[in-house]
Amino acid sequence: VVGGLALGLTACDAPADPAATGEAGAAVEVESVGISMPTRELERWINDGAQLQSKLDEAGFTTDLQYAENDPDTQISQIQNQIASGVDVLVVAAIDGSVLAPVLQDAADEGITIIAYDRLINDTENVDYYATFDNYAVGKLQGEYIVDTLDLENQPGPFYLEPFAGSPDDNNAKFFFSGAWDVLKPYIDEGKLEVASGKAPASNDDWASVGIQGWESAGAQDEMENRLASNYSDKKVDVVLSPNDSLAQGISEALVSSGYTPGSEWPILTGQDADKASVVNILADKQSMTVWKDTRLLGDQVFAMIESLKAGTEVDVNDTESYDNGVKVVPSYLLDPEVVTKDSVQEKLIDSGFLKASDVGL
Ligand code: BGC
Repeated sequence: VVGGLALGLTACDAPADPAATGEAGAAVEVESVGISMPTRELERWINDGAQLQSKLDEAGFTTDLQYAENDPDTQISQIQNQIASGVDVLVVAAIDGSVLAPVLQDAADEGITIIAYDRLINDTENVDYYATFDNYAVGKLQGEYIVDTLDLENQPGPFYLEPFAGSPDDNNAKFFFSGAWDVLKPYIDEGKLEVASGKAPASNDDWASVGIQGWESAGAQDEMENRLASNYSDKKVDVVLSPNDSLAQGISEALVSSGYTPGSEWPILTGQDADKASVVNILADKQSMTVWKDTRLLGDQVFAMIESLKAGTEVDVNDTESYDNGVKVVPSYLLDPEVVTKDSVQEKLIDSGFLKASDVGL
């Protein structure tokens, strides 16, 4: 690592950290990149990791890709190993966004540049850049899909809604929920949407009360089965707000085991990621939509950031306001998510090469 300090300057003489401002700095030695991903349990992270790694490998970087199987301590020790092995850049998709500050301090002390991948890392100044999809927009698209599909502007309702949120330790989860709830809550207040289980967060800040730890399908399935058994013996649920596909898959299982049949009586069910299993469910009318984040674009963006660091040119960011991690506003690059429904699976997911037709039984 060749940074200001390694060039023999003292801390006081060292130029301002270019990463802190998003400005161009002197080219630094960037040969080796550590990639730290949360889990292999979810398809998207396998794709994210493999894709970024192959792009970097092709361009001649040395890479180390680790998966921490959703265990924050494992992620910390994997990052420690990457620091010890002398990486120049760390790309981290945090499992728990609030526990990495100490290990990232060690990384910063070694002059390593830190890029938060997809999920923000909180409570530390040592996050240089953040690349993600616009997380609030993901939730907003889910909320708007529900409003449009139920035609809530014109229909009196009430329609029965059950809301879910993501893992309480994932910084993204509150953005997803807020985006959706800002759209849906006015209709709850108006009486057009009703939450029969009573599990309607009073405000965006209460989102974790409907969060599913670890984004586990099984946790979502249990919760949905309980809500259906306790509150829906005499009525049908009309809509389930699910923040992503892993939860939607569990909710879909719960609907089947509680006697719902795909088709007319199946509720509107949202998702995110365009996971193969969920796309199969969309085609079988067991999930209504997914918010697609073309993770290839995220990989490209992070790759471009690393190339800029290497060249000493300005790192491209397009948002310097939205992501305050408690210590600083992290310069971010936000990509646009988009809705995919049964009608657009072929055009958006297959024709673009994101999924193979055979992956989803087409
Ligand atoms: C990601 C989602 C993913 C979820 C569960 C979130 O941080 O942004 O794409 O579905 O984690 O892994």
